[in-house]
Amino acid sequence: MTPHDPPSELAELSRALSREVQRREWHGQRQAAAPVAPALGADGAQTAAPAAAAPPAVQVSQPVQPEKRDQKTPVPPSLEERLAQIQAQAAQISDLTQLQAAAEACTACVLCNSRQKTVAPRINGSAGVAFVVLAPAEEARNTPLGGPAGDLLDKIVTGGMKLKPAQTALISLVQCRPPQDRPPTADEIRLCSPWAQRQLELLQAKVLVPLGAPAANALLGKNQGLETLRGHIHRPEGPPVVPTYHPQDLLANPQLKAPCWKDIQLAMGELGLPTGG
Ligand code: SF4
Repeated sequence: MTPHDPPSELAELSRALSREVQRREWHGQRQAAAPVAPALGADGAQTAAPAAAAPPAVQVSQPVQPEKRDQKTPVPPSLEERLAQIQAQAAQISDLTQLQAAAEACTACVLCNSRQKTVAPRINGSAGVAFVVLAPAEEARNTPLGGPAGDLLDKIVTGGMKLKPAQTALISLVQCRPPQDRPPTADEIRLCSPWAQRQLELLQAKVLVPLGAPAANALLGKNQGLETLRGHIHRPEGPPVVPTYHPQDLLANPQLKAPCWKDIQLAMGELGLPTGG
């Protein structure tokens, strides 16, 4: 080729341009064929990748959801499940002291948070009578019924029934004292009832004397006033039940002592004790 040969230079320039066009076309095909990160569907499965734009971020985040479901907070046992647990536990115990220890360890309802201690029942009951209150009114004396009301019940037992208080049982249907002496709820009464039921079974009491309408209704499964409940002997399955006034009511209204004495005489008749007329 001569130093200046326009036709040759023009031909060479044309070949160079052609090579450049081919190179660029080849490079463009490679970019178009490069792999694209797979998109994930809502169930985590790979789906066909869109040819151009990247998938939206919300689609990529979907597979996290199943892990969150696996980490959910455990569901606490229901009232029915807790009730079944207490029933099963109480049924296996055949000693009143062990039963009391088991109740002391019970945390099945919120009353365990406010109690100082569960209140021990008076569980001698050799005379066969068990007085029943709904819930303990004090913890300091470790008895379901303390203070003046407890003293009055002792007077009824000693002066009227001619028994020693230690010969009678005194139990509470709810084992833990509610805060501020509020009435226990229906759920608390029901949940705690297997402890008292087992106490009564082991005591083998011949007659139960619930003190006050709440205890009588809980024991009999009724919802009636005391004037309807008292004055006669109920004979449900199990020992007979003779409801009467709570000693607190007798302290507030001494005129109730006479009808209360009639109720106590009914209970004494069931026990075979002389009623004095
Ligand atoms: S009140 Fe009864 S059920 Fe509730 S914590 Fe006390 S013993 Fe358990």
